[in-house]
Amino acid sequence: MAEFSEQLNREIDDAAELILSAKYLVGLTGAGVSVESGIPPFRGPGGLWTKHGEPPMDGYQRFLAELEKLGILKCLITQNVDNLHRAAGSVNLAEIHGNFMLDRCISCGSRFRRGEISLEVLPPRCPKCGGLVKGDGVAFGEPIPLDVLALCQSETDKSDCMLVAGTSAMVYPAAAFPQEVWRRGGSLIEVNLYESELTRICWISLRGQTGTILPELLSGIKVKVK
Ligand SMILES: [Zn+2]
Repeated sequence: MAEFSEQLNREIDDAAELILSAKYLVGLTGAGVSVESGIPPFRGPGGLWTKHGEPPMDGYQRFLAELEKLGILKCLITQNVDNLHRAAGSVNLAEIHGNFMLDRCISCGSRFRRGEISLEVLPPRCPKCGGLVKGDGVAFGEPIPLDVLALCQSETDKSDCMLVAGTSAMVYPAAAFPQEVWRRGGSLIEVNLYESELTRICWISLRGQTGTILPELLSGIKVKVK
């Protein structure tokens, strides 16, 4: 069990209330959560993990998948490409920067599991439309796939509360989604190790690791729905 300050416990409780009063909760996660699950440069002396203690390997992904199963989280927008949200069971998922386990047809947008498309004939072709197939990951400077962007937009439009976890949400287009919810009068909850650009417009900022705060938030929510 994580030891939280009284203030943080109170804020987590407030966040649970706010989430339960929301009509359409959307989550936004970013590279921060992947960092916590083990990108090597963040380990070692002076690294994030050493300073703040090692988080459970999959705490935050499980939390968000479970929140979706409970019918509370409606959609998860993520900047991660590591497939961990899918692996944890998230279903309504918008992967802004793609998924490194998938290939994508650049003509019709169909996704295929890695290995499904034969590389015997190059360039690889889409079995549905004959278009070129590439990795689903969105390279720097490459446009976000239109279907993903449309999903993000429609879910953001419906959202009256956004839970932003493990991202400073500074990179567009992801940065625009919480701002849009806020402009419409919706509420923002942030879970982040550090203060971010978003902090000043958040109703609640939970300062700490997503891997320890999110499971606590989930317990808080479960107690209240019982
Ligand atoms: Zn195609």
